[in-house]
Amino acid sequence: MNAGAPLGRSVRVEAVSKSFRLKRGASVQAIKRVDLEIAEGEFVALIGPSGSGKSTILRMIAGLDEPTSGSVTIAGEHPRVLARDHRLGVAFQDHALLPWLTVRKNIELPFRVAGRDVDRHQVDDLIDLVGLRGFADARPSQLSGGMRQRVSIARALALDPSVLLLDEPFGALDAVTRRRLNVELQAVWTRLRITTLLVTHSVEEAVFLADRVVVLSARPAQVADVVEVGFERPREPDLLRDDRLHR
Ligand code: ADP
Ligand code: MG
Repeated sequence: MNAGAPLGRSVRVEAVSKSFRLKRGASVQAIKRVDLEIAEGEFVALIGPSGSGKSTILRMIAGLDEPTSGSVTIAGEHPRVLARDHRLGVAFQDHALLPWLTVRKNIELPFRVAGRDVDRHQVDDLIDLVGLRGFADARPSQLSGGMRQRVSIARALALDPSVLLLDEPFGALDAVTRRRLNVELQAVWTRLRITTLLVTHSVEEAVFLADRVVVLSARPAQVADVVEVGFERPREPDLLRDDRLHR
């Protein structure tokens, strides 16, 4: 399995601000002049407190929302162009599996949405990849929370997306399950090398999984800054040195 055709260029969020209009003409500024770039094949984690604008940024990269000012592009295109071509894989915390469908049918769903023939081989590969062999015919209600999360990640990978966008995908899990899933998925990502943005509120998870961690800090009036923390994924177990933390 490969992670889609090469993008050539990266995800670029340039000077993006986003305000939401509220009732009676009031508005709330969710993010202010955020710059963020994700290189092809890079795994970036976006962390920050609740309300700091993480989901807002992810939704704009997914083409689900528009910046008020600034621009978001993927390989030089508007994200909607990639979304239309089914080249973005997205998974959210509430994993949104269809309860009446089996694991296999849930993972096949993107093929049906895209009007493509189901690639059985690809679906089998994904079921293996996320460690769910033997559960292909189970329904979501028969699975643990961690297993459901793996199904939703497999589903996001179904069409070999160029970019994977994950919004707090492990948020609903207990700490032990979450850690176990992190370890398993790190192996998956090492294999796929897919361009990934992971939104999380867990610093530990971000540092463990990502090549680079971007921190959104809440300021008054929900204005946020991006601080790059310059972590590099340790290539060997004990390489996490203090001098990685430089600003
Ligand atoms: P996070 O994901 O970091 O918790 P969000 O991106 O969800 O933060 O929200 C950032 C800010 O924007 C919050 O103040 C939130 O209330 C506001 N916000 C997000 N979406 C909307 C919306 N659709 N309408 C109004 N305000 C919104
Ligand atoms: Mg959020």
